[in-house]
Amino acid sequence: MTVTGNDALGGAPSPVLIVGAGPTGLVLALWLTRFGVPVRIIDRAAQPGTTSRALAVQARTLELYQQIGIAADVIAGGVKVPALNLWVSGRKRARIRIDAIGEGLSPFAFALVYPQDAHEKLLIEHLERAGVRVERETELVRLERRTDGVRATLRTKARETMFEASYVAGCDGASSTVRHELGIEFPGGTYQGYFYVADVHARSPLANDELHIDIEDVDFLLVFPLKGAGNLRMVGLVHEHEKPDRQVTFDDVKGRAVDRMQLGNAEVNWFSTYRVHHRVAPRFRLGRAFLLGDAAHVHSPVGGQGMNTGIGDAINLAWKLATVIKGEAGAAILDTYEPERIAFARRLVETTDRGFTIVTQQGKAARLVRTRLVPAVAPLVFRLPAMRRLFFRTVSQINVSYHDSALSVGKTGPLIAGDRLPWIKFSDGSDNFATLTSLEWQVHVYGRARDGLKAACSELHIALHEFEWSRAARRAHVREGALYFIRPDGYIGLADAEADVSRLRDYVAQFGLLRVDYARWT
Ligand SMILES: Cc1cc2nc3c(=O)[nH]c(=O)nc-3n(C[C@H](O)[C@H](O)[C@H](O)COP(=O)(O)OP(=O)(O)OC[C@H]3O[C@@H](n4cnc5c(N)ncnc54)[C@H](O)[C@@H]3O)c2cc1C
Repeated sequence: MTVTGNDALGGAPSPVLIVGAGPTGLVLALWLTRFGVPVRIIDRAAQPGTTSRALAVQARTLELYQQIGIAADVIAGGVKVPALNLWVSGRKRARIRIDAIGEGLSPFAFALVYPQDAHEKLLIEHLERAGVRVERETELVRLERRTDGVRATLRTKARETMFEASYVAGCDGASSTVRHELGIEFPGGTYQGYFYVADVHARSPLANDELHIDIEDVDFLLVFPLKGAGNLRMVGLVHEHEKPDRQVTFDDVKGRAVDRMQLGNAEVNWFSTYRVHHRVAPRFRLGRAFLLGDAAHVHSPVGGQGMNTGIGDAINLAWKLATVIKGEAGAAILDTYEPERIAFARRLVETTDRGFTIVTQQGKAARLVRTRLVPAVAPLVFRLPAMRRLFFRTVSQINVSYHDSALSVGKTGPLIAGDRLPWIKFSDGSDNFATLTSLEWQVHVYGRARDGLKAACSELHIALHEFEWSRAARRAHVREGALYFIRPDGYIGLADAEADVSRLRDYVAQFGLLRVDYARWT
């Protein structure tokens, strides 16, 4: 039986239907809820995921979580990794400290491991506290686009129902129904080799909260710390000849690396093998339908970027949707979602592709690079502060920028609109990220703000934050007295060295931002 109409479902009509309650959908729901936008979030699975999958939570994700007050919970549930150890054929060749690798660059200057199942559970708890429940065993089966929204056919065990929403967010993973219903392709490919992942319990010197990477001639093993003594995640390569006809087990594939690292007798709690794909959808948006997370892009897990990128998509879209739905911005702002996120997804696929090739390539030259060059050079490289900073900036995603976006206007020296607002800590221990918890557009001035700017911000109902001018601000390439108009997600929208009020007014008018009666100044 198909029931038509939102009332038939017993719920109030929602401006946003979120399909999929993985990390991407959950974060989108949480952010929209914080903005006061009602959402409906569905998932065809009966339960949230129960396996660890993505482990790394990058600093940029924590910064965005801090804006909605959940970073501390995530950190408390995870493990901070103080060092990474490079082994070659079971012999330790180097220990590289990474405990404060991003010092001065982010309030979260460390590497954090937090399994995806615990992560999702925490997001669900926060969402439920905000009054939103994931509707389980509810599957999107069809999607029809209309000029003023979408009409979705949803299937539960009992029936099929129609639901109309102003917008739909496809957060439904790599085999996305939303993407399929929109007729959007998913070009790319699948790598030859594939990985195994195993969550184990082991009595081993490797269970010391540090990351271990063992490189062999034709093999490699990554060992991550998990919460609880002796709990580890192992990631390794599966070779074609190791695949028996029956279901593959840990014993089939563990290879030489596991034996050399004396982990062969580990108790296995979860074991899975997976092929790695590299694909990016050519479009992340069609009218009022959006693709996010694995529904839009998948790539190799090298560098721990996948889940974090989906979360980044969710936050990028959340504030734009919220401002448009609440009438605080023109609908054109939604046009910036796809170009901002697709550019980053494409770059990511290219870089993780290179990383994956280095890790898995066979042949003499590749082996020499892995077993000789990398262990010899890496410790030296990581001793150089500039290289440590570059590594942190890249992996932590604080370097993600939207320079080419229509929303990015102006620059002040090396700081360009579209950059993430640099993190600056002040002499009294406070920092310039504290004000971002308001989730509002805001003006930052480092040094004294001109009187005209103060008056304009007051008229435009924009919060103006004046911060002390300091060496830390100078080091962060901020210009004294300049105007920085900061987006709700902490990126610089407008940068103007002269703090010219007319440029701020033009920017506000161009995007129809805030509830401003612009006619007063024209
Ligand atoms: C074994 C394994 C190991 C991994 N290891 C890593 C790692 O080390 N590092 C890393 O970064 N990433 C890793 N990943 C990838 C990571 O898990 C994904 O990038 C991440 O889950 C993507 O989140 P998402 O919310 O976009 O999609 P998903 O987590 O896939 O969530 C999609 C949700 O949509 C639901 N859904 C699908 N279709 C429908 C429909 N039609 N109607 C309603 N609901 C629907 C699904 O039930 C699911 O809950 C791993 C993945 C696997 C499987």
